[in-house]
Amino acid sequence: MTNFHILTLFPEMVLQGLHTSILGRAVERNCISIEAVNIRDYTLDKHGKVDDYTYGGGAGMLMQAQPVYDAWRAVEERIAARGASGSRVIYVTPQGRTFHQKMAQELAQEEDLIFLCGHYEGIDERVLEEIVTDEISIGDYVLTGGELPAMVMVDAIARLVPGVLHNTDSAVTESFGDGLLEYPQYSRPEIWHDKRVPPILLSGDHAKVDAWRLEQSILRTKERRPDLYEAYCSRKA
Ligand code: SAM
Repeated sequence: MTNFHILTLFPEMVLQGLHTSILGRAVERNCISIEAVNIRDYTLDKHGKVDDYTYGGGAGMLMQAQPVYDAWRAVEERIAARGASGSRVIYVTPQGRTFHQKMAQELAQEEDLIFLCGHYEGIDERVLEEIVTDEISIGDYVLTGGELPAMVMVDAIARLVPGVLHNTDSAVTESFGDGLLEYPQYSRPEIWHDKRVPPILLSGDHAKVDAWRLEQSILRTKERRPDLYEAYCSRKA
């Protein structure tokens, strides 16, 4: 079971996105929990402000340290009340290490994960220094806020938590599971637009199907991701 806690200024965006389909059902079955904590609820400003100008000038506003810190502390206290503590706090930021499947696998082992979503120009550095354990990016481009990156990461991590996917094999055989891209797949009908499903998949011979799929995975990886293919070859050498 992994509990995801997302610190954000837009909780409804995160909850709507993550409580549907497979993850929504995983929440209902108590395989994971997902809470969105509204950072604005923790501001001490009487007008509900959470951002201010940056010292030194420059474009845009910056999220202030106090509401972020107090929102994080409230979550930490709730986690500690359950007897757990020391949760990893992930600041989603274009300045972090780029997210990949191995990180998702590692993070899926954690009991609690706290995600911190920035907005505007980002967040006051001092609170990041105090609470953040990991800085992770979803790619070399800049989005308006951390909500989409947090949702991407929660989705990728949650589906690796035991019980979330009914078929535990799918997380192993699909792309990146063993460092290769997944083989091509087909469903009914057998012929569509004059294209036939490869006959071996209709043979009922599981060993041959597995061998064909591995061969296709290797070919596809070599063609589309030579970097992954090289790493695969050196592992097998
Ligand atoms: N001024 C920041 C910079 O140049 O690094 C960018 C701030 S961005 C407009 C606002 C927020 O969106 C960030 O604080 C971060 O939480 C989130 N964000 C934007 N792009 C991201 C990415 N590629 N990966 C993860 N988070 C991202």
